[in-house]
Amino acid sequence: MGYFEMAKTAIKTVMSRPATLMYPARPGKMTTLSRGHVVIDVSRCISCGMCMKKCPAEALCVDKEAKTWTIDRLRCVVCNSCIEVCPVHCLTMEGHYSSAVLAHSGLETFTITYVKPERPKKNESGEPAEA
Ligand code: SF4
Ligand code: SF4
Repeated sequence: MGYFEMAKTAIKTVMSRPATLMYPARPGKMTTLSRGHVVIDVSRCISCGMCMKKCPAEALCVDKEAKTWTIDRLRCVVCNSCIEVCPVHCLTMEGHYSSAVLAHSGLETFTITYVKPERPKKNESGEPAEA
């Protein structure tokens, strides 16, 4: 009886259409709740490193000296933690998947272009100095 059931399942599987999609040849279905990939607005990133500390997959690297933000797309599990913790909201979740990548080529590095505004100079009495 067991062999009969197994053969029936095997034949049914061979005859039916595959349950998977031929991604990336055929794009996956996206909904409003779908998570695609993390995107950064480098002009707003303040290199605080909070996203790197919060990332459970160690997919992020923030180098304050080199002013770079790097993500390893092959490590990222699209958990949304970095986006929730970013104090300046410069990270967003795009609604489409990343392009397929080869092994060891998931690293993407962005140069942080944020420039900290200068504090207004103060005179001896502590009041803002006039220009
Ligand atoms: S989405 Fe999650 S796993 Fe991906 S970089 Fe952000 S914190 Fe890390
Ligand atoms: S992306 Fe956000 S959390 Fe990460 S270093 Fe930049 S400002 Fe900080």
